[in-house]
Amino acid sequence: MRQMQMVDLVGQYNLIREEIDNAITNVVRSAAYINGAPVKQFATNLAQYLGVKHVIPCGNGTDALQIALMVLDLQPGDEVIVPAFTYIAPAEAALLLGLKPVFVDVDAHTFNIDVSKIESAISPKTKAIIAVHLFGQSCDMEAILAVANQHNLYVIEDNAQSIGCEYCSSDGRKAKTGTMGHIGCLSFFPSKNLGCFGDGGAMLTNDDELANRLKMIANHGQEKKYYHEVVGVNSRLDTIQAAVLDVKLKHLDHYVESRRKAAQRYNELLQDCESVVCPKVSDGQQHVFHQYTLQVPAESRDALVKHLSEVGVPTMIYYPLPLHYQNAFRGKCRLSSSLAVSEHLSKTVLSLPMHTELTLEEQIFVCDEIKRFFII
Ligand SMILES: *Cc1c(COP(=O)(O)O)cnc(C)c1O
Repeated sequence: MRQMQMVDLVGQYNLIREEIDNAITNVVRSAAYINGAPVKQFATNLAQYLGVKHVIPCGNGTDALQIALMVLDLQPGDEVIVPAFTYIAPAEAALLLGLKPVFVDVDAHTFNIDVSKIESAISPKTKAIIAVHLFGQSCDMEAILAVANQHNLYVIEDNAQSIGCEYCSSDGRKAKTGTMGHIGCLSFFPSKNLGCFGDGGAMLTNDDELANRLKMIANHGQEKKYYHEVVGVNSRLDTIQAAVLDVKLKHLDHYVESRRKAAQRYNELLQDCESVVCPKVSDGQQHVFHQYTLQVPAESRDALVKHLSEVGVPTMIYYPLPLHYQNAFRGKCRLSSSLAVSEHLSKTVLSLPMHTELTLEEQIFVCDEIKRFFII
């Protein structure tokens, strides 16, 4: 068996090599490296795919979050609600702008922000909620939008991990993640479900005015060249990356389907292993399995990681330290209530190899080794 990987980017590239190589070559030959035609073309195609009015490309997913917060005209010290168990970017962007992250616990089954705990975290200074759709599953957007509406808060969706996921409201209406709040943020980091060959990101909105402000701030605060209305940043999606993404976007639904199949196979192969908890999908909802994340007994996790590593199975711990324990945030954030679930998950989660080229043979091997570890 070949060396197993968490993510097989070469295998995925090989299947669409000619298309990708042509797209890159065309950019190289045109020399339109910045803001070339493929940038606009990709933005248009992505807007259509997602069913959103505006797609504003930018340099990466962290920039997308920062720029999204910049356009909301918040004041230093204003509070932004973020989940405690997630990647650092949303809370980091808030802190960088002088805003105060307020950490809220997550749900033990979906890993997403526990909406029942948002209300009690709101103070007069609270201005926004960043809903992170973690590992490929949507947050409970209906409930988040309701609480935000009631308290007049902005909702930013961090959709870096869940592009292509469709959220279903209780009335049966469907919308792609990232398109339901005021602004959605995407990352095209290579290992994301839609990844480019370097850094890339985008912001999504249905609001014309927000779209103009996002565009302006991503471009040095200028609408007209060399006339700067506000302080902005320089954040662009390279033309080469846009060209790669435009090719891969056509395959995204197929990629999502491969991930779902792989997740289903893991579920089946692990169903008789009582020591692990497989990821749960909320009733009536979808999952695009950016990660396939197990929960294992905290006391066995290190040994299991070691065992799997010794037999050639890579694993990852997303995330080993909740955000309220990060040194970078010490004394600079507010903890709403108990963050016990986040703390527990950081000790029990384990993500298995998950990508579009994962084979049944590899998955059988992974699951046999997990079962063998718990039996011995
Ligand atoms: C990857 C990721 C980001 C940041 O994206 P970059 O493009 O690496 O800056 C933000 N939030 C979440 C949840 C992510 O997984």
